[in-house]
Amino acid sequence: MKRIIFHIDVNNAFLSWTAVERLKNGYKVDLRTIPSVIGGDESARKGVVLAKSQVAKKYGIVTAETLYQARCKCPNLVIIPSDYSIYKKYSDELYDYLSKFSPDIEMFSIDECFLDMTGTDKLFGDPITLAYKISKEIHEKLGFTVNIGVAENKLCAKMASDFEKPNKVHTLFMNEIHKKMWPLSVDNLFMVGKKSADILKKFNIKTIGDLANADINFLIRHFKSRGIMMKSYANGIDDSPVHEEERQDGISNSETFPYDIYEIPILEEKLLELCEMVGFRLRSMNYYCYTVSVMLKTSSFKVYSHQKKVDNAINTTHDIYSIARQLLKSMMGDEKVRLIGVRVTNFTEKRSKQLSLFDDETEDFSEVQKVVDHLKNKYGKDIFINATKIKRD
Ligand SMILES: [Mg+2]
Repeated sequence: MKRIIFHIDVNNAFLSWTAVERLKNGYKVDLRTIPSVIGGDESARKGVVLAKSQVAKKYGIVTAETLYQARCKCPNLVIIPSDYSIYKKYSDELYDYLSKFSPDIEMFSIDECFLDMTGTDKLFGDPITLAYKISKEIHEKLGFTVNIGVAENKLCAKMASDFEKPNKVHTLFMNEIHKKMWPLSVDNLFMVGKKSADILKKFNIKTIGDLANADINFLIRHFKSRGIMMKSYANGIDDSPVHEEERQDGISNSETFPYDIYEIPILEEKLLELCEMVGFRLRSMNYYCYTVSVMLKTSSFKVYSHQKKVDNAINTTHDIYSIARQLLKSMMGDEKVRLIGVRVTNFTEKRSKQLSLFDDETEDFSEVQKVVDHLKNKYGKDIFINATKIKRD
């Protein structure tokens, strides 16, 4: 039987979800229609942009730059602190809604789901019509838009949902690959990072189609076994199953990739998101942690875990991420990564600060963040903008 896989991807999830939540709470302005970003949990100087509105994008604001840089580009920028509880709430709502369509559902990340819809046409009718219906219902019931990719495997479904955005349904069936996927630049292919794309382009492999038809021996010579995978993906080949997410205890978060990842920048981006979620949960419990661990599962299913204990308990995303990043770098070998996770342990309720003559990081940014959150809740968003302006003048 022909497989039918849906990939559902929330458009600009963190920002959309925050916008929906604020509209529900009586805010008149939709964040999606003004220059706005979701920032880290830090002061404007140390936090980074996690998500941005389309309007903010027009100012040249990019993900992962500091909030300070973003504000320089757009002085009227509205910065909303990230709030994991909101993301979790809407992610759960999405999962609950989607799970009535198929028992084979995989939460791929907080805002992306795979559904195995194989053989459900007797129940729900034509899959493409159903995809449009799902998209419309999510918008009406939950308030945000999604892209849905419909294909015969996970890879193609994921590639399809990444075509034109937002609020679109795209198909990428095997007989459409040469028309829809092959003309795209090779760096659009899942798992081909900038570094690999640069090498490929040097050898005149510019499009996914070029890669699909490239000499396998050449690819193996330059990329080892990854070359085989890249050529398979460029041909739309993937038979990985849709499976349920593993659940973990404690304050940890992990992400299993359906395909193995090698590029450190991609892994770092995932790591930052995971640290943001772990950090939020830690802070919402008023805890600080002494130990940060990073887990990796490799393509051959070996599991590694490295941890680091710090002298001063921490709870900001910035602090957790900077340790997690060091750990990740020390752990990366030749093998590709299948799962990445972050865990914080060894809690304390109060931050204990060792006095050090050489430590100039005396400011406790989590306290700053709490005050900012409180003031914004009480007086509205502008209080934060004004304070930042005063600081810079
Ligand atoms: Mg998304």
